[in-house]
Amino acid sequence: MRIDVVTLFPELVAGPLGTSIIGRAAQAGTVEYRVHDLREHGLGRHRSVDDYPYGGGAGMVMRPEPLFDALEPLRAAGAHVVLLDPAGERLTDALARELATIPHLALVCGRYEGIDERIRTLVDREVSIGDYVLTGGELPALVLLDAVVRLVPGVIAEASHKGDSFASGLLEHPQYTRPERFRDLEVPPVLLSGNHGEVDRWRRRESLRRTLERRPDLLDEAPLDDADRRVLEELRSGEA
Ligand code: SAM
Repeated sequence: MRIDVVTLFPELVAGPLGTSIIGRAAQAGTVEYRVHDLREHGLGRHRSVDDYPYGGGAGMVMRPEPLFDALEPLRAAGAHVVLLDPAGERLTDALARELATIPHLALVCGRYEGIDERIRTLVDREVSIGDYVLTGGELPALVLLDAVVRLVPGVIAEASHKGDSFASGLLEHPQYTRPERFRDLEVPPVLLSGNHGEVDRWRRRESLRRTLERRPDLLDEAPLDDADRRVLEELRSGEA
């Protein structure tokens, strides 16, 4: 997979792209990252990339020319162009999984008050990371990239992300590691029992409990069997 990031602040994205799992994916050759400095396509002696908004108002707007210059070759190379934008489709686990199947993504980071509307003609999809506004698209691009790259086959073991929150339609069960007792806090005895059937049942129950308590909306869409529905009835009636 190849991911291009088009930004006015390449230094902001460089660190995370070389670190931990995201960095190892590049070292292994599973994913290739290319960061493009939009300033190189800036206009005039000052490499200007923004201007005042037509019609007046506060702030500056990113001009179309530098972004067209940066994006047209990427589109010609087959990139699926994603603009990070608060008005975009909300990033979810399902969207990350869909994007992880696309061989070439180009992520476009806005700045200032936003971008000239005509840039959207070069964009295949717009994605928001949530209902709040950041100063630029670099952190949203990194959030999207991280969510996508970990799902690319070979980056982490499939078993590690299959049971993650949202992947199964539920929130994940609680996790514990050593020591068995920390201060007065103990690991649930079932996890030490060595009985894999009991451990699986406990995890499923706790996953259902956590989802019911924190994100009951997920239960409307989650694939549930009869045993799950019985557990949910018990949890709702306070029996478990
Ligand atoms: N004036 C714009 C608005 O009200 O929608 C906000 C512009 S914001 C200050 C500058 C850039 O940050 C945007 O063009 C976008 O690339 C990025 N950005 C900010 N918040 C975002 C979010 N929640 N999701 C995705 N991108 C975001």
